[in-house]
Amino acid sequence: MIEVLAHDCGPVSVLIHRKSKRITLRLDHASRNAQLVLPHKKFLGQGKKLLLQRSEWLTQQWKKLPRAMPFIAGKTILLGGEQTELVFEKGRGAAREQNGQFIVPATQEAAFADRVRRALIERARISLQEQVCLHAKTLNVQPQRLTVRDTRSRWGSCSAAGNLNFSWRLICAPAFVLSYVAAHEVAHLREANHSFKFWDLVKQSFGDPAPARKYLRANAPKLFAIGAEG
Ligand SMILES: [Zn+2]
Repeated sequence: MIEVLAHDCGPVSVLIHRKSKRITLRLDHASRNAQLVLPHKKFLGQGKKLLLQRSEWLTQQWKKLPRAMPFIAGKTILLGGEQTELVFEKGRGAAREQNGQFIVPATQEAAFADRVRRALIERARISLQEQVCLHAKTLNVQPQRLTVRDTRSRWGSCSAAGNLNFSWRLICAPAFVLSYVAAHEVAHLREANHSFKFWDLVKQSFGDPAPARKYLRANAPKLFAIGAEG
């Protein structure tokens, strides 16, 4: 980032991507930030002109962004695809889901947001571990390390060494979506590509991937709104 420009709806980060062929203005769903991408900093003047010309368009994009779902007690987030109310409970112990509420103990309210995030990551890890085991058994493969992070460009990935990496946000999607992403990455342990053979493995262990893929395409901006500040 070389500069931050102002817009009525929020800041616009100026980024240099040497591989990009032209000047682009976009609202990135994952970071919920406006970005002006230039092939070189010498195009900054032209970029600023583009921002002025497309100011109204950018405002429209901002309006379409799903509302932020910050980790605040009394607010709702998506959990397993369902609107779930966050409840602060003074104390320690594990978070629990009950009657449409996600009850998260914290020693003080200031620590609540952090506790919610940790609880979601932990839930995601447990569910993904379960699903990975299940699909690995079906496909007779042996996954290595499983990590859960706030990935931005992919919901899951599989390294050449057999390590699997997932987004914690999958726990916020319906269970079949999380299971599909687990199956997808496990299938990569047999086929490190997206060939017909690969999709056959996904079908074999998970079933038809179409509904889950459709959900992820349609709901990505919403999933990235979870935990975002106001
Ligand atoms: Zn893949």
